[in-house]
Amino acid sequence: MKPRFIMCICTGQCPGFKSLDLWALINYVRNELDVEYAIVHPQLCVDDGDRFFKDYIKPDVKYIIGACDPKMQRKMFKDAFLESGGDYDKQVISLDLRNISTEEAMKKVKEVVESLK
Ligand code: SF4
Repeated sequence: MKPRFIMCICTGQCPGFKSLDLWALINYVRNELDVEYAIVHPQLCVDDGDRFFKDYIKPDVKYIIGACDPKMQRKMFKDAFLESGGDYDKQVISLDLRNISTEEAMKKVKEVVESLK
């Protein structure tokens, strides 16, 4: 099964993503990389993010999550995975895509997608 890419864009207001061209990244991932699809969520670490995960997570699917610090992501997302029958540590590859250029973000995602083949 191909991985899914989820980009969390921190409401669109966070200065950490100022240098990222979100739509260039998403269109690159969905069109050029070997993923099932790529989606954007505005703020995964709040209540509607939890509700989204609980609706969305399937066992045995890999999720590549582009967002903030991977340690913070783990803290914020692992319970929602557990409650949806998933296993964060087995299913998620988290990437910190803050404060880097769009090209660097594309390269990081590409490396992970290729490592999962
Ligand atoms: S998960 Fe990280 S990137 Fe996403 S909204 Fe929360 S702090 Fe921002």
